[in-house]
Amino acid sequence: MYPWIDLVRKQLQDSFERNRFHHAQLIHGLIGVGKSEFVRKLSEDLLCIRSAEVLSSCGQCKSCLLLRAQNHPDLLYLAGDTGSIGVDEVRALNDFVFHSAQQGGNKVVVIEQIEKMTESAANALLKTLEEPASKRYILMTCNDLSKVKATVLSRCNQVRVAVKNKTESQQWLVSKGITSQEYLWADTFSEQPLLLEAWANQGLISDVDELWKVAHDITSVVDINTLESTLSKDVSLHAVFTRFLIEAFKQQLAVGQINFVQFHNCTQKIEKYMSDHHKILGINKTLSLSNLVFGLQCVLKQD
Ligand SMILES: [Zn+2]
Repeated sequence: MYPWIDLVRKQLQDSFERNRFHHAQLIHGLIGVGKSEFVRKLSEDLLCIRSAEVLSSCGQCKSCLLLRAQNHPDLLYLAGDTGSIGVDEVRALNDFVFHSAQQGGNKVVVIEQIEKMTESAANALLKTLEEPASKRYILMTCNDLSKVKATVLSRCNQVRVAVKNKTESQQWLVSKGITSQEYLWADTFSEQPLLLEAWANQGLISDVDELWKVAHDITSVVDINTLESTLSKDVSLHAVFTRFLIEAFKQQLAVGQINFVQFHNCTQKIEKYMSDHHKILGINKTLSLSNLVFGLQCVLKQD
């Protein structure tokens, strides 16, 4: 696992061995901290033949091999990647939990991004959460606890995953070839190291680097099309760019390069840009970006 997750994993392993492991585990934390990977590991541990005694998969038993082939009949996976998790999916989950395990061991349900569950779906899940059946486990991930119904939260064991010691994630990133010496912005994401790894795997590191440079020199931007084509390479990049912009303006405010009114006006323009992107379907992205960039340039020219 990742060094910043080891301690939490050990705590869950201990609770398992003392028969105190909760049947419904809600793993929450920032995007890019490793929740999905952690839940995948936990489901492997729970399905492995060794789970009769310990929570640590062997990688060799029939269950482990079935999992590796992504073909385990006692694992159900619900992902909130596309829009929402609806009531039909939760009813299928309830059925799955009810029927006996094909491999004779535990049955595991993984629900990614539980905050994407509709209200009726969450209601349908309550009974299963409330009345735990033997050898049934529900593992959930969540990016934002405030979006989860209190009735769901109260029926789960909440496990927070976070990078508490940034040196750990920085060292891990160095092992992936990403250093803050080379990329000045890398420390911005030291609590979300898997984001950087994903960008590296997608060949996007130089694009993120370019966005950082643009954000710190926004008054020089003239070519909106090039900037938009960089941003359109991945859905995560708009949020990254606006985060860099806000950081840049904070620094400029701190050294007196801009005044507070300018800072306030800039952040308002950035917020409007972000909210337009979320709300307006089929938005003209180039126009919206040029409104942002030229709007910011206007504010920065005022004294
Ligand atoms: Zn195994």
